[in-house]
Amino acid sequence: MEGRRLMPPTPCLEHRCPQPAVHRGRCQIHKRTTTQRGYGPEHQAARRALALTLPMPCAYGCGTMLVHGDDWVAAHVVDGDPSSARVVSCRRCNERAKGGAALGAALRPSSLTRSALGEKDL
Ligand SMILES: [Zn+2]
Ligand SMILES: [Zn+2]
Repeated sequence: MEGRRLMPPTPCLEHRCPQPAVHRGRCQIHKRTTTQRGYGPEHQAARRALALTLPMPCAYGCGTMLVHGDDWVAAHVVDGDPSSARVVSCRRCNERAKGGAALGAALRPSSLTRSALGEKDL
């Protein structure tokens, strides 16, 4: 008679990682990496959500109207912070923001399309 057997832990999906999976097939160490990079599925989902709000003026207030298929980016409100909300921005403003100017300062809170960003479950 065999007693109750515990299920063997599912191994992490990450190549050669010996840790047991704890979240979506990944271990404690690997489960957050794509989100931390800021360019995983979360980034693509945010971009898709923002695309639904187009046409929209550039969030930096430069006056450029951003439309589908045009050059626009899903910019972080706080540049370099992957957990911050995203807004639509023209490439020029986004590059300029990376150069130092904080988007938060130039951005009017009312121009944030919170509903378009979808729910953040982080
Ligand atoms: Zn792992
Ligand atoms: Zn702009």
